[in-house]
Amino acid sequence: MIIVGDDPASRVYVNNKKKACEECGIYSEEYALPANTPEKELLELIDTLNGRKEISGILVQLPVPEHIDEKKIISAISPEKDVDAFHPINVGKIMVGDFDFVPCTPAGVMELIAESGIDVSGKECVVVGRSNIVGKPQAMLLLHKNGTVTICHSKTKNLAEKTKAADILVAAVGIPNFIKGDMIKPGAVVIDVGINRIEGKKLVGDVEFESAEKVAGAITPVPGGVGPMTIAMLMKNTVRAAVVQAEK
Ligand code: NAD
Repeated sequence: MIIVGDDPASRVYVNNKKKACEECGIYSEEYALPANTPEKELLELIDTLNGRKEISGILVQLPVPEHIDEKKIISAISPEKDVDAFHPINVGKIMVGDFDFVPCTPAGVMELIAESGIDVSGKECVVVGRSNIVGKPQAMLLLHKNGTVTICHSKTKNLAEKTKAADILVAAVGIPNFIKGDMIKPGAVVIDVGINRIEGKKLVGDVEFESAEKVAGAITPVPGGVGPMTIAMLMKNTVRAAVVQAEK
């Protein structure tokens, strides 16, 4: 795990991932670099870790400081050690449906759906948000499970009309309490990816839980819903990466 700078949210995420590694018996190393670390130095570190056989997975906690080119960093990680599945090769593999691992948050959402016995096939699935990390891969994974998928974003018109048609609604917007109960179809499965910090303390999702839970058939809370699943999927990806590399 590499963390550059002292963003408090990133620190919490890295600590949680470290703790999860310990709980699972996965050996981990943390590289905490100062915010002014030159890009070249970070690239050299990634190169060293790429070459170390006993390291199966490399994760650079995003965002990185502005002087560092995020795309360059992601592309420098060996695709088979890219346990976040952000490398363009892994993104392409997800597109064609032939992948070893998928980004942890959408993977966690799919696991929640599967474990709850919900069949995606033929369902109207609406994903609100189109980021490379969540929205886009989420839509692709639902499509691979034969959902009929609509992606909504900041330029979508009549959003409530779209969300109200969803049998499965995934919110990954980053706006606190954005999806209200009256935007949800009765009985729908509502998955809230959002993690928003209110007044620096309380965590709330993108879905207004109080109004949504009265309408939804199933709903994930924030905190304690998708967040822990994301970390669990990171552990799964890391084990998978180790197996794939051992089998080579
Ligand atoms: P992002 O900012 O990259 O993307 C937000 C998306 O929301 C954009 O695609 C944008 O088009 C869309 N959007 C913005 N305003 C909108 C509007 N008015 N109507 C419809 N769509 C709108 O964010 P992200 O990285 O995808 O993260 C989204 C949320 O999920 C954030 O709260 C983030 O903290 C959270 N998150 C949680 C986890 C987890 O482990 N649970 C992981 C990653 C991100």
